[in-house]
Amino acid sequence: MLQLNSAPLRKGHPAWQRLVDPHWVDFVLEHVSPTVRIARTLAVVEGVRSETPDIKTFLVRPNRRFRGFQPGQFVPVRVVIDGVVNERYYSFTSLPATKTVSFTVKRIPGGRVSNWLHDNVFTGSTLELGEPGGEYLLPAEPAPLLLIAGGSGITPNFSLVQAALNRRPGADVVLFYYARSEADFAFQRELLRLAQAHPGFRLHFFPETGPHAQPRFTRQQLDALVPDFAQRRAYVCGPAGLMEAVHSVWQEAGLAANLRREVFAAPTPAAKSSVKAAVTFRRSQRTVQSNKPSLLETAESAGLRPASGCRMGICNTCVCTKVSGTTRDRVTGAIDHTPNSRIKICVSEPVGPVTLDL
Ligand SMILES: Cc1cc2nc3c(=O)[nH]c(=O)nc-3n(C[C@H](O)[C@H](O)[C@H](O)COP(=O)(O)OP(=O)(O)OC[C@H]3O[C@@H](n4cnc5c(N)ncnc54)[C@H](O)[C@@H]3O)c2cc1C
Repeated sequence: MLQLNSAPLRKGHPAWQRLVDPHWVDFVLEHVSPTVRIARTLAVVEGVRSETPDIKTFLVRPNRRFRGFQPGQFVPVRVVIDGVVNERYYSFTSLPATKTVSFTVKRIPGGRVSNWLHDNVFTGSTLELGEPGGEYLLPAEPAPLLLIAGGSGITPNFSLVQAALNRRPGADVVLFYYARSEADFAFQRELLRLAQAHPGFRLHFFPETGPHAQPRFTRQQLDALVPDFAQRRAYVCGPAGLMEAVHSVWQEAGLAANLRREVFAAPTPAAKSSVKAAVTFRRSQRTVQSNKPSLLETAESAGLRPASGCRMGICNTCVCTKVSGTTRDRVTGAIDHTPNSRIKICVSEPVGPVTLDL
């Protein structure tokens, strides 16, 4: 059976895709191969490697729909858990020019997707990927680099270290890597090997506890180890405390423009309302009292299953129409009174009665 594609014709699509719905073709392909698809990027897991007690690397081979990535970029990973599609971002930890690529995931206590990936994904599993993105990239022209990583924030930095040394074996790269203990440093062996092979690569591990415990990031530490930090392109990715400490040093030095930041977790909400308000889900014909920090969680606790992704206001998967009422964006603090506006329900809370088109 041929299904006419009702989507508008888009330039560059092969003629046959204008007549046949690519999703219908994928439905047929599902019975033929686990990963061959024309509308979805599926990847077969070729291996899973434990990096630390709570960090695993997933080596995956995406299908031909995958268009590659740049070092430092992340990929949306979509998984279905209890019938709900969840999307989270993970930074690539391999170099781009290989058919098998990798991303690395830290288990977050209570976290939905990170724990699911650790516990349910094995060699031979299939995962769905989205389009890679992100601006945490090497400078176009080679420049001395200072990379600062904390915990799972090593992932995009590991990618940048490998790419910078691959591009220019003599590259001048310094990596500061902070973790709870010596057992918590991922890619330790690979990093030490790179430091041995490339004299221009200087590696500093800062375990917070144990026999070689080091203090947390300070300006004094920076001045002592990298006195020329102002001449370097700097990058930071890690827990909020580290990111803030690094950002304030660069800001005080008038160098904020030289510092690139990658944020993994939602920022602390700018404002919090204590209003308990009636939330009506129009299409589901249900009204409940808001009882959770976000409208997304209130919807979920009412038994609805709206699509959601990053749950931190980045990916827009959860955007829906607020038919009426006033909401507050918990990240920016912005108030929205406009009827029929599109809001991100993962970071919105009601300020009074609200009706959503859910
Ligand atoms: C651009 C980008 C790149 C990312 N790259 C990586 C990566 O390479 N490796 C990796 O492990 N993660 C990465 N993340 C984080 C990842 O997308 C998920 O947020 C993380 O795995 C938690 O998802 P979850 O479903 O397990 O937790 P959820 O169920 O979404 O959240 C559970 C709780 O944990 C908190 N939380 C969420 N993320 C973190 C975090 N990173 N640290 C501390 N608390 C958190 C939430 O605020 C929430 O309270 C990246 C995020 C972004 C935005």
